[in-house]
Amino acid sequence: MHPDTHALHAGHTPNTTPGPFMPGPQFSATYITPGDPSEHALLYGRFNNPTWTAWEKALADLEGGAALAFSSGMAAVTALFATVLRPGDTVVLPADCYYTTRQLIAGWFAEHGIKHRLVPTTTVPAKGAFDGARLVLAETPSNPELAIADIAAWAAEARAAGALLAVDNTTATVALQQPLALGATFSVASDTKMLTGHADLVLGHVATSSTEWFEKLLLWRKLGGAIPGPMEVWLAHRALGTVGVRLARQCDSAMAVATMLSGRRDVHNVLYPGLAAHPGHDAAARQMRRPGCVLSFDVGSKERATAFLGALTLVREATSFGGIHSTAERRARWGGDAVTDGFVRFSCGIEATEDLLADIQQALATAGA
Ligand SMILES: *Cc1c(COP(=O)(O)O)cnc(C)c1O
Repeated sequence: MHPDTHALHAGHTPNTTPGPFMPGPQFSATYITPGDPSEHALLYGRFNNPTWTAWEKALADLEGGAALAFSSGMAAVTALFATVLRPGDTVVLPADCYYTTRQLIAGWFAEHGIKHRLVPTTTVPAKGAFDGARLVLAETPSNPELAIADIAAWAAEARAAGALLAVDNTTATVALQQPLALGATFSVASDTKMLTGHADLVLGHVATSSTEWFEKLLLWRKLGGAIPGPMEVWLAHRALGTVGVRLARQCDSAMAVATMLSGRRDVHNVLYPGLAAHPGHDAAARQMRRPGCVLSFDVGSKERATAFLGALTLVREATSFGGIHSTAERRARWGGDAVTDGFVRFSCGIEATEDLLADIQQALATAGA
């Protein structure tokens, strides 16, 4: 089955079950459960919810493992770290991964005895690169520099080192890339971004190929309580149906924008895995269905980037990415990433490609040289 059809039908009620086409969100803090609790499937709103179950079934089908929803991408990342890492353990992280992930490990987890090593995402793991690690996290494409890690190569080296591999799949999403099939034990993602795509909710999930780790993650969520709201989960599941058509337009536009920008002399360092000149192009082509909707580039200076962002009419200046409306931001305004002052991260929405190209071209002209 084509992955777009798969995503559209994933987690939905089969034809043989009469009832609502897509049952609405179930809002229930508690359930009527007389007598022995073990006789009831639904007990309490922190333990189970049928709206989660349908969404998790969809994610599990797409990821090719078992999946658990969390209240945000960071709640999912935290669940992974808290479940796997113990004092004295070492985790290997990409030096260029999502800043909050690095902050979490270098701060809170370091204070609790977890050691970490940073390696660039572009590392082709040398023999021994992951020695001594309990967990290796890859992030591909990385945010915001869109570097590519070869997941199968990272998985092989992690296995050789006796480490578990997790992939932060946020930028690609499971609609474009399946880390578990490439040898990762965990696929973790913020579903706030492209997977749900409407900039109206915050959500995350962890998927795993291991039933043992799944049980541990489930216990963490039940005890730690980072559960998603049923409304967000229902909106996410509704949005999943259109991921194929959204992504087709978004990836087409990203390729067109990257190609157009690469030909300009007033824009430098255009980073998009779909470009043949991108250092991760071949690995991306092997492991991703499409190169995604996010690209980055440098317009020269903080002043020019500010003028450019201010002159765009269709593109909102906002953080995050992956939504149906195009967004862009000057990434250095946050600090934390090793990027230049003129570095812009750009997320293509579903506007007609020609309109997006025209808007970018007029904004670059307005921003001057
Ligand atoms: C946004 C993001 C996260 C965090 O997700 P939230 O839903 O904002 O908590 C984690 N990893 C990557 C790569 C991200 O882009």
